[in-house]
Amino acid sequence: MNFDVVVIGGGPAGYPAAIRAAQNKLSVACVDEWKNFDGSYAFGGTCLNAGCIPSKALLESSELFLRAKEEFAIHGIKLGDITLDLAAMQKRRASIVKTMTGGILALFKSNGVVGMQGHGRLLPGNQVEVTAADGTTLVLTAKDVVIATGSTPIRLKTVPHDGVRIVDSWNALEFDAVPKRLGVIGAGVIGLELGSVWRRLGSEVTILEAAPQLLPMADQTIAKEALRHFKKLGLDIKLGATVSGATVKGDAVEVEYADAKGAGKLTVDKLVVAVGRRPFTAGLLAEGTEVGVDARGFITVDEHCRTNVAHVWAVGDVVRGPMLAHKGKEEGVMVADRIAGKAADVNYKVIPAVIYTAPEIAWVGQTEEEVKASGRAYKVGSFPFAASGRARAMEAAQGSTKIISAVDNDDILGVHIIGPMAGELIGEAVLAMEYSASTEDLQRTIHAHPTLSEALHEASLAVDKRAIDAINR
Ligand code: NAD
Repeated sequence: MNFDVVVIGGGPAGYPAAIRAAQNKLSVACVDEWKNFDGSYAFGGTCLNAGCIPSKALLESSELFLRAKEEFAIHGIKLGDITLDLAAMQKRRASIVKTMTGGILALFKSNGVVGMQGHGRLLPGNQVEVTAADGTTLVLTAKDVVIATGSTPIRLKTVPHDGVRIVDSWNALEFDAVPKRLGVIGAGVIGLELGSVWRRLGSEVTILEAAPQLLPMADQTIAKEALRHFKKLGLDIKLGATVSGATVKGDAVEVEYADAKGAGKLTVDKLVVAVGRRPFTAGLLAEGTEVGVDARGFITVDEHCRTNVAHVWAVGDVVRGPMLAHKGKEEGVMVADRIAGKAADVNYKVIPAVIYTAPEIAWVGQTEEEVKASGRAYKVGSFPFAASGRARAMEAAQGSTKIISAVDNDDILGVHIIGPMAGELIGEAVLAMEYSASTEDLQRTIHAHPTLSEALHEASLAVDKRAIDAINR
């Protein structure tokens, strides 16, 4: 079978590449091998099946459970005993995932993309071999091939994964009972989000983090504030704690680690390993394809996601840059446009990051630490949600918004938010930075009252000590 474009991988980088290529009037096939625990194939990759979407479903449900228990009374809402129906919660999670992955098939159909389920392998000469579940193979020929095979959780040799007691993030989204004691290795994005879910549902959660500080990639004012909130939730985060091994003993897992206090031992019922992800290229590149792979396993690409082989492109988690679905999506779209001869770029300087904890954490651009290190003179404006009428009305007045602005030309260098709906609020900052708005542009933009977005407005005013609703320092 011949196609203009064959995309290997139908996750958040691959399926948008396929759809955009079809919109560009190219003939497209998208091959995906994702299989769920029940053996069924599904498009959508890790994000839809085992990451972004199911985790957000459980974060929402568990947050509502906690708020019903702890917050509704403050609003004057009296309820009887609040009990957890985890089976119903999990059923809802699964049904959202099913709807969303089914949505990709519908999008493929309406755009004329041929979706194929099976393992895709790149052969020399821009051919892709597809092996179906029954072992039968088919060879596709393409003018252009886009590799979008994503990433897979890193496993630690000394912490043997069994999928029952010692698990990865996917297993931890599908627990059918709340573990009494949950251990998590890694206080990264996954560790914090999953730790929050199970803590809210009643687990005693201990997170062991090797780094001496929390979220080293985030602005440290925000990270320090986040640590306070996580402690308040009851997450026991041990920083500077490196895990050396774990052993399943009966129904429990014994974890050995070392921190500043010396050797430590932790006994838990389930242990989640969330120490990062690595690019996934197993069985992908047949001999003779000559696609370059770096020492860490990433497919090497230029700024337009071209590999070293003509007409072979790679996008998403399998290439350099942050492992974020929205970064992969933009790369997929850029490549599909470039294949069609159109101009397209990804602005790697303006990629938002969001951690979906409560309060949420979101940022775009440089942290204060990065700006300081660059030597550029800067001003900072911040605004606490405690001074936001809307946040108060929502009973969500924790956190703050921080804007870092250049002294020389008033450019917005970075925006950092911890607080209610931070992931939604950051969109305005992303747009402002994408359009090279100055801090003054933000100051002169009318924000509806009372909304959470006013916090961003007030923070921009605070940059020049002109905030109205907070004391300027
Ligand atoms: P991560 O890289 O964000 O965090 C892993 C953490 O594990 C690090 O802080 C590291 O210091 C720690 N660690 C590593 N080895 C350790 C050891 N032996 N003992 C103790 N700590 C150890 O990785 P992640 O949380 O697994 O997430 C994987 C990827 O998925 C990331 O790139 C992340 O950005 C992405 N992701 C993003 C979102 C989101 O955008 N909301 C959500 C989930 C995952």
